[in-house]
Amino acid sequence: MICKDFKGEPISRLGMGNMRLPTVGGGGHGAAIDFDKAAEIIDYAMKNGITYFDTAYVYAGSEDFLGKVLPKYDRSSFKLATKYMAGANPDYKAVFEEQLKRLNTDYIDFYLMHGIMNEDGVQSYLGRGCLEYFIEQKEKGRIKQLGFSSHAPIPVLEKMIGAYKWDFAQIQLNYLDWTMQDAKGQYEALTKAGIPVIVMEPCRGGRLASLSPKADEVLKAAHPDWSIASWAFRWLMRLDNVQVILSGMSNMEQIIDNVSTFTDGGPLSDEDAAILEKACDMFRGEINVPCTGCRYCCDDCPMQIEIPKVLEVYNKMKLDGPMSIFGLFAINPGPKDCVGCGSCASHCPQGINIPEIMQELADQLKKMPGPGGPFAPPPPKP
Ligand code: SF4
Ligand code: SF4
Repeated sequence: MICKDFKGEPISRLGMGNMRLPTVGGGGHGAAIDFDKAAEIIDYAMKNGITYFDTAYVYAGSEDFLGKVLPKYDRSSFKLATKYMAGANPDYKAVFEEQLKRLNTDYIDFYLMHGIMNEDGVQSYLGRGCLEYFIEQKEKGRIKQLGFSSHAPIPVLEKMIGAYKWDFAQIQLNYLDWTMQDAKGQYEALTKAGIPVIVMEPCRGGRLASLSPKADEVLKAAHPDWSIASWAFRWLMRLDNVQVILSGMSNMEQIIDNVSTFTDGGPLSDEDAAILEKACDMFRGEINVPCTGCRYCCDDCPMQIEIPKVLEVYNKMKLDGPMSIFGLFAINPGPKDCVGCGSCASHCPQGINIPEIMQELADQLKKMPGPGGPFAPPPPKP
């Protein structure tokens, strides 16, 4: 396993993200974690040199799960990272104590203020004693390294950077977002401030595990034995200030592939980086919605629409053709139920115009045979 020095200690460059652990019956967000399957992944991670485990207070069941599965290993053999989200519970003191209990530990190695997106987010951590409290915990040794995670634009990020001598920061970084979401600017701002970067969404929630048929062909022709996802990791390994690359691994196939990339692989050569850029240009021209599946848009939707699932179908439709829209029939409530309130778009870190897409899909659905379409059976008589 490739490691990188952090303040005199080696940490694996691949980190285990625990937001997308396997669930019972393959259920979505909030479904119970399939303990045995998830524990198999963690055991494989530990046996193969992964030493960084990332979770959060708001990842359903994840802290509890890690608190059960990790204690059989020597506490000094791995780093635990978890996060406090002000929006989920304003009582940061109670949350921190609960997290230590859930994780079955008396200290957190890497502690983060979770998900800065805008000025209000900055204030929710800096303006009410929260940061001061966590600094105090650090002084007591209950937090070893203090940082934050951010989806914020650069001026907001700069405010956060200036607020404290942070030990690290976590941002969304991958070759697609390097220019699309100005991840380059964010990475450079953190690097200039001397703050090591932990990468989240290196594969954009799995989106870069397969690009488009044409782009995949270009990459496969260059290296038939590399997975498409491994190009994203190898590209990130080129960046010197990247400390850990998190991957939310949901099955054994993913972790085996990732461990192999970070054991036998290394950074992309300049020649391979040019090939990736070419494939990326092809892909960029084809995709329309850069949804990462973070679900920040879902909580306040008055119609409780499973927005990321809808967008998944939308992307598929854009890539594979209009017949993919049939996937929408399984999503209820769906685009036809959208009232266009816009609440979702105001929470979306990717700046996706969700109401417009819902409208486009609702219009498209009306043209299709099936429920709601012109070829649908007539509604039952009252
Ligand atoms: S615009 Fe539509 S999808 Fe978005 S929050 Fe409102 S009802 Fe939900
Ligand atoms: S639409 Fe935006 S907020 Fe919603 S899941 Fe996708 S990226 Fe996240």
